[in-house]
Parts: sequence; C-alpha cells; structure tokens
Amino acid sequence: MRSEEFLPFTRPSIDEETIAEVVSVLRSGWITSGPKVQDFEAALSEHCGGRVVRAFNSGTAALEVALRLAGIGPGDEVITTPLTWVATANVVLEVGATPVLVDIDPITRNIDLNRIEAAITPKTKAIIPIDLAGLPVDRDQLYTIAIPHDLRVIEDAAQSFGASWNGVPIGTTGDFVAFSFHANKNLTTAEGGALVLPFDVDPSLCERLRLQGVKRFPDGGMDVDVLGGKFNLTDIAATIGLGQMKHLGEFTTRRRHLAQRYFAQLDSSLGLGLPLEDFTNSNWHMFQVLLPKATDRGRFIARMKELGIGVGVHYPALHLFSLYRPFGFKQGDFPHAEDVGLRTVTLPLFPAMQDADVDRVCAALISVLDH
Ligand SMILES: *Cc1c(COP(=O)(O)O)cnc(C)c1O
Repeated sequence: MRSEEFLPFTRPSIDEETIAEVVSVLRSGWITSGPKVQDFEAALSEHCGGRVVRAFNSGTAALEVALRLAGIGPGDEVITTPLTWVATANVVLEVGATPVLVDIDPITRNIDLNRIEAAITPKTKAIIPIDLAGLPVDRDQLYTIAIPHDLRVIEDAAQSFGASWNGVPIGTTGDFVAFSFHANKNLTTAEGGALVLPFDVDPSLCERLRLQGVKRFPDGGMDVDVLGGKFNLTDIAATIGLGQMKHLGEFTTRRRHLAQRYFAQLDSSLGLGLPLEDFTNSNWHMFQVLLPKATDRGRFIARMKELGIGVGVHYPALHLFSLYRPFGFKQGDFPHAEDVGLRTVTLPLFPAMQDADVDRVCAALISVLDH
C-alpha cells in the first residue's frame, strides 16, 4: 500500500481466482446453499481434525444455535466475559438465559479463568469464552473447570480461526466451537460463520435449527418438529470462504510477522499497554494497544485519521450498555475490562499490509502521543 493512501485497520485479501469462482457461481443458476456450502463445510471439517462442522450465515447464528443445541434457555445462567463483541452476550439473551460476567485477566485480556469457579451457581449451564484478538484462552484450564461442574463450553472462536492450542488448530478439540467469517475476521465469506459440533449432538438437528426446523423425506414430504431460524450460508459466500482457505496459513504467518514488527518499535516506555507477545498460539487477529491513562482516545483516533491511519475500538465493556444494565451491572463491577474498554485501540493489521505500513503507524502513533 502506498504511504499516501488511507490505511484502514483491516481489509480482506481476496484473490482473482476467488473472484472468478464467485462469478461462475453467479452464472451457474444456483446461488444459495448448495454444493459450495458442502465443499466449504468439508474444508472446515478437515481443518478441524475431521470433526462435524456446519456453516451459518453469521458467527452470531452459530453461537445461538450452539446454545439451543446445548438446551440452554430461561432460568439458566451462562458465564462469559464483559470484554467482547456484544454478540457473545446477546445470544444468551436471545435464548432467554441470563448472562453472568467474569472480569478479564489484564495480561491476556480474556476471561480470567481463575475467577470462573466463584461465579458458578446451581443454575450455571455453560461458559462462553472468547479468544480476544485471536489469543486463545487456555483450553486445558478451561476444560479442567468445566468438566467437573458438568458445564457445556461454547467456544466463541470468532476471532481465533487459524489460531492453535497445544499445536492443533482451534476447533480440533473441545465442546462447541463457533467461528465467524465476517469481513473483518482472519478468514472471510463477507458474512458467515460455522459451528463445530461435539460428538453428542445430532448434526441433522443442527441443520433443522439452521433452517426453519424443516425435515425432508425421500418421498418429497416434510415435517417441522422444532423452531429453527433462517441461518443458512449461500454458495456465493461459501465460494469466497473456499478461496480464503487456501491462504489461511500464509495469512496467519504474515499477521505474526507484522505483529512482531509492531513489538520491535513500540514499548511500554511510551505509556502503552502492549498485548501479550504470543507467537505460538495466536493468529494475531488484531494488534491492540492500551493508550496511556491520560490520553483522550477520541482525539487520538481523530489525529491518526488525519495522518491517514484507521484505528478501531474493540470493545467497550458490555455490562455498561443500556440493554445490560437491568441485569444489575454497574460501573466498577469489572475494573480490568472497564480499563481496557476505555483505553484500547486496534492498530492496522491485515495480510496485505506492508512492513513500511507498520513503520508508518508506529511513527504516527509516537508523534501523536508526544503532542
Ligand atoms: C465477530 C464476532 C462475533 C459475531 O460474528 P458475526 O459473524 O459478526 O455474527 C461473535 N463474537 C466475537 C468475539 C466476534 O468477534
């Protein structure tokens, strides 16, 4: 990218071959869910060690269906983190259950696993951890907590597709694992998602919950035995995903390289809070720094924009949103999540970025913080 161009905080990389494939699907006469979705599910399954994977039209839909498959509903409590995209908690409300929040670990910025046990009650049915910025939650500790309490785990791996734990890709092990393929995620279908199913779940029930509860019979008849949503992925979107899968490894390698370049130029002497330096597990979905406490974030973002650099905010702590206040949450409940939520900024990081772009972001950031 030339230096005079505006540098967004993220941007998808879609190759010409994929664009040509999408055009051929558009011309094929079949553009909604069909053979391309099946091929995409097969590719996702292969990535996840052969587990059963079903594609969805969003990561949110995949999470909601996971909760329904886990039998979670009114009266049940689900433990999650206040520092996530609000979809993670919204799906809990969607099925009529109650979100119970646990503060983050300020080092990983993920849910503090050491505080989960204290939040478990007789009503707790599940934990939804998220891998913020692509840094996986410690899966060993997570399941060591969940299994003896008989809790389901719905891994919100929206940001960690391509990341790994114990040397295997996220999605290969665990209970439910939900991915998002939103345009900003490491692998995209424009909008889309997927759910990796545990062995005790019937894939055909997952398919019915995905599409109006419809069960078809060989004689052409049908039945509807469950209330399903309208959550199917299109063949157009799946074709983008198939094209992206070919580059997943190189995307992750490139992101790690760029993150390393950020670390080489930024340090805490600037008053910045840097992310955990993990080059084994994380897919570096985002490079997030915490601004010095006295910095006005709005002004910082505006100044960076004037310098041609896009900066994002992921995320304000969700317990302070109006929709969540009635659950009794208040300021001060989750101090680590609140602090990160107020100070975090997401710097540009995407596979097509050049090394010189990182240098330009760092120089701009340093000059803006200096003034
Ligand atoms: C993106 C995201 C989602 C939702 O995915 P969509 O595909 O946008 O529905 C859920 N949780 C987290 C943590 C996300 O980053």
